[in-house]
Amino acid sequence: MSKATLTIDLQAIADNWRALDRMTEAETGAVVKADSYGLGAARVATALAEAGARQFFVALAEEGVALRQALGEGPVINVFSGHMAGDAEAISGAALTPMINSTEQLLRQFETLPGHGFGIQLDSGMNRLGMEPAEWAALRDIALSQGPSLIMSHLACSDAPDHEMNDAQLRSFREMTEGVDAPRSLSATGGILLGSDYHFDVTRPGIGLYGGRPFTDAQPVVTLDVPVIQTRSITPGETVGYGNTWTAESTVKLATVAAGYADGLARAMGNAVGHACFQHDGIPLPIVGRVSMDLITVDVSALSEVPATLQLLGSTQGVDDLADWAGTIGYEMLTSLGARYAKQYAS
Ligand SMILES: *Cc1c(COP(=O)(O)O)cnc(C)c1O
Repeated sequence: MSKATLTIDLQAIADNWRALDRMTEAETGAVVKADSYGLGAARVATALAEAGARQFFVALAEEGVALRQALGEGPVINVFSGHMAGDAEAISGAALTPMINSTEQLLRQFETLPGHGFGIQLDSGMNRLGMEPAEWAALRDIALSQGPSLIMSHLACSDAPDHEMNDAQLRSFREMTEGVDAPRSLSATGGILLGSDYHFDVTRPGIGLYGGRPFTDAQPVVTLDVPVIQTRSITPGETVGYGNTWTAESTVKLATVAAGYADGLARAMGNAVGHACFQHDGIPLPIVGRVSMDLITVDVSALSEVPATLQLLGSTQGVDDLADWAGTIGYEMLTSLGARYAKQYAS
């Protein structure tokens, strides 16, 4: 086997969804944008629909069209980017629900798809996407007269429970939605963990389903096994990889594995301050030298026999560990995992 294998545990994803669902009285949706954070939206969403999810969220209408094909009729597919120019056919053909985020989009929706369901996205302070309070105040009556299926906003700092921004956005969202009958949604994974004030009617977890922070009780979802291509021993003073950035201080046994930064394994992990490691049977095996495009060199001196594959992601080492070594976040690690992996689903 020459390809690295990414194994995705659909049962763990469903269990994480159920665990997040138990934490609120709200309906628990599922965010499957960016191909379910790189893990395969068709398979992931199908497993979540079987677990009971009825509301899905994608970033773009195109993602919604593909998701509708996978899920069939029934589940609600909400589109965060709303109704962008040219999207009308996709929205109506795949029965998508755009989260309208501006006056321009509301007019486009009413002109091109009168009577078609929609939601509203409000900006409660993040200043990224959604109607601002003044804009909403002007449109509110017209929009509400058409019975939006959801009114949502997004928190900027929900991974930091003590951040004052959380309370400020909660107050802003409450003010903007006072007296509204439509179901309301404010919380992604982080907001679910902030407590019941933040839950409203529908929650929108993404990263927590896939085993990432801030849902630290999540079950691990992703395993990544990378085949060993070659092994060698080097003596003190010899160097490894581009730029000679690592020098052996003793005799070292090395294994070269078949994946690199072209597969989403950030170059910043090479010689990482926290010593990025592969693993075998729970034994940490440090990456040495620079990460190349297709290759990584690993110090396997701790092993008496070198196995056919070394593990980078698994039950004891997750996407957040990699993210810390690479100076990024679990979200980016997951969505970077490359197209060259053989994807395999466990359920
Ligand atoms: C990505 C996203 C989510 C999911 O966020 P997580 O932190 O992954 O749970 C929810 N709502 C919106 C608007 C998003 O963009």
